[in-house]
Amino acid sequence: MIAELLPDAISALTTPGKSRMSGALPDRLRGLVRKRDRGTCRYCGRSARTSFREYGEVDHITPCLYGGTDDLENLALACHVCNIRKGGRTPEEAGMSLLPASEVIHG
Ligand SMILES: [Zn+2]
Repeated sequence: MIAELLPDAISALTTPGKSRMSGALPDRLRGLVRKRDRGTCRYCGRSARTSFREYGEVDHITPCLYGGTDDLENLALACHVCNIRKGGRTPEEAGMSLLPASEVIHG
């Protein structure tokens, strides 16, 4: 019985919660975004590092409010200025364009 062998995997697939509204991302996910975007803001192309946020900020490209997920494809590194300017809007609404990811990290 596969269901008996993989109870955790099955409950993970059937448990809702992907579209939660809280803003806290796992550190692992933040680390992957920083690594993929190489410390560079995906909106202005400058270093995302600021004096008070050493590694920049991780932005939801499509805001959670609009159904955006915590998937890597929906996350981008942003500097503080761009993150504030974009706010809770999509890049289109904010009149901002997203630079392509420098590399794709699997897993
Ligand atoms: Zn920026």
